[in-house]
Amino acid sequence: MNKHRIVIVGFGGMGAQHADMIDGVAELELAGTFDVREVRQEQARLWGYHAYPSFAAVLADKSVDSILIATPNHIHRDIAIQAMEAGKHVICDKPVTLNSQELKDILAASQKTGKVFMVHQNRRWDEDYLSIKKLVDEGTLGHVFRVETRVQGSRGIPGDWRREKQFGGGMLLDWGVHLLDRLLLLFPAPVKLVYCKLMYPTGKEVDEEYHIHLTFADGRTAIVETGTRDYIMLPKWYALGTTGTAIITDWQMGGKVTLLVDDDETDAQPIVAGAGLTKTMAPRVLASTKDEPLPRVATDVRDFYRNFVAVTEGKAEPIVKNDQVLRVMRLIEAAFESDRTGQAVRFE
Ligand code: NAD
Repeated sequence: MNKHRIVIVGFGGMGAQHADMIDGVAELELAGTFDVREVRQEQARLWGYHAYPSFAAVLADKSVDSILIATPNHIHRDIAIQAMEAGKHVICDKPVTLNSQELKDILAASQKTGKVFMVHQNRRWDEDYLSIKKLVDEGTLGHVFRVETRVQGSRGIPGDWRREKQFGGGMLLDWGVHLLDRLLLLFPAPVKLVYCKLMYPTGKEVDEEYHIHLTFADGRTAIVETGTRDYIMLPKWYALGTTGTAIITDWQMGGKVTLLVDDDETDAQPIVAGAGLTKTMAPRVLASTKDEPLPRVATDVRDFYRNFVAVTEGKAEPIVKNDQVLRVMRLIEAAFESDRTGQAVRFE
């Protein structure tokens, strides 16, 4: 089999992870790497990869079919356009660019050159997302009217380019792009209203935390959050349906589904709760609901790379579509605008 030869441009943390992944994809061969820092060039050689001496050398190598961009975000556009103009297909890590205009520039170059451009939205292959998606799609929870999706850490933003605006740092671009991308696949209706608040608890120049509230045209709502100074974690996923609720608490698929089995119409007896009395919040009798484990979904992120090769050969449609990526970038811009103005922003 003639393998598809790819070069990783930007051989930092994620570049190395891509090299590992590519190693497990039969259709792909890592032709080499290129990084502007000698220490990373040296590392690549140490691990047995061919370290190209320059980006120009990568582009000049006729045996290279594609490049994979894993540099900081601010240079994704320029690298992608140069590569496509030199006849290479491109995989680009997320966030694709700093704004939608930069992405449009890339898409124009892809159109002009006929080269494939595909964004690495790898968190579509996370099992927690796929488990929630299965519950929503199969109607297990009834009509899901609200979802919360979040990721939280407590170590602050790593001390690299992610802390600086000029490089496209900040959590909305870094994690928001994943969470929003998946949410728009989970809830397909147009997004009507976006409210966003960015937070800077330790005074960095980029958002260290954000909170987004979305309202969809079909009435569904979603909360999307990321934090870097959160010492106690809330659930990663919390999905509310008319006849069930699902919760995923952590990266290890902790959590459960609770389903209604007996919708007893009679009112509950009031209970004393706190300093008051309540019927509405009285707990259910145990037999009227049942707990089930979360559905498990087999997933392999290498399918992303396999799909990319098939797309370059004209044998498949891209799993990650550029119009989806553009929609997410526009949504992120609306979120920034909401934060700037302190108002909810009308979107679609
Ligand atoms: P990193 O700082 O560890 O690595 C970036 C590397 O790019 C550095 O080694 C740097 O020297 C190199 N570089 C900078 N300018 C370059 C240029 N012009 N040409 C070649 N190399 C250049 O950062 P990272 O964490 O690996 O992030 C890289 C990209 O991957 C970012 O876009 C980030 O958002 C993305 N990322 C994606 C995921 C994911 O799960 N999809 C996870 C982490 C990072």
